[in-house]
Amino acid sequence: MTGMRLGVDVGGTKIAAVVLDRNGHRIFHARRDTPKTYADVLHAIGGIVGECEGAVGAGASIGVGMPGSQSPRTGQWRNCNMTFINGRPFAADLEAALGRPIRIENDANCFALSEAIGGAGEGYPVVYALTLGTGLGGGLVVDGHVRRGANGVAAEIGHVPIVVPEGEPAPCYCGGLGCAESYVSGTGMARDHRLVTGETLSSPQIIAAMQAGDAGAIATFGRLTDRLARLVGMLANALDPDVIVLGGGLSTVAGLAEAVRDSAPRYVFGREAAPPIVLARTTESGARGAALLWD
Ligand SMILES: [Zn+2]
Repeated sequence: MTGMRLGVDVGGTKIAAVVLDRNGHRIFHARRDTPKTYADVLHAIGGIVGECEGAVGAGASIGVGMPGSQSPRTGQWRNCNMTFINGRPFAADLEAALGRPIRIENDANCFALSEAIGGAGEGYPVVYALTLGTGLGGGLVVDGHVRRGANGVAAEIGHVPIVVPEGEPAPCYCGGLGCAESYVSGTGMARDHRLVTGETLSSPQIIAAMQAGDAGAIATFGRLTDRLARLVGMLANALDPDVIVLGGGLSTVAGLAEAVRDSAPRYVFGREAAPPIVLARTTESGARGAALLWD
């Protein structure tokens, strides 16, 4: 082996890849659009692997991050928001297409691994990472290794139902009702804003209105941060991680992390303190974390 590690992050719209050298430094990266059929996704991953290895002039180990997880019972992929992947033996098919072994993990677990090794979670034994974007992902790394759990669903906090005081519980694509992701995400915030105010705005529009002083948008943002603080309390009471890393597009909105830090302790048993809440530091963390699946 050359010691090169290639990580591929398969997202709903983009496939991103990075190549790390033997010291963990990024030496190449590439992106392409995610196709809309199963066969085309396998083909596109093969294409980006070929592009990366051609550019660096060497073979590499291959790690892959993707939404959802592999069933330990059937070997089939499931819980992916790219639903055409569900029910397929994705890892086996990809290994066959690439002609070599791969390591594959849930994308939020890859994000957590990237932050635990050289990111904002460096030095903390138990790192819980939350990606707050269109959806809500969770990942868990203990002592530098991803913990996927006995059923492959560890850290899937986005599909824990949360109690909200107003309205009917929101239906989720997973089949659940009142899943945290339906409230604590860009999509969830937009839905909540529409239900409470009657205004249909995207999450960036709500943030802009909040920053311009709009009372309705300020209240929507307050509900979002309060619900996120409840999730932090839930995480603390179940696992009490050493650090919680926040990533994703919504996490960097000014005031979000501060609001969650302020209110989280009131949802933690004893009401004394919550785990430290820090912002993600690594770039291309899904692909980088996938590369780090190989030591
Ligand atoms: Zn759900």
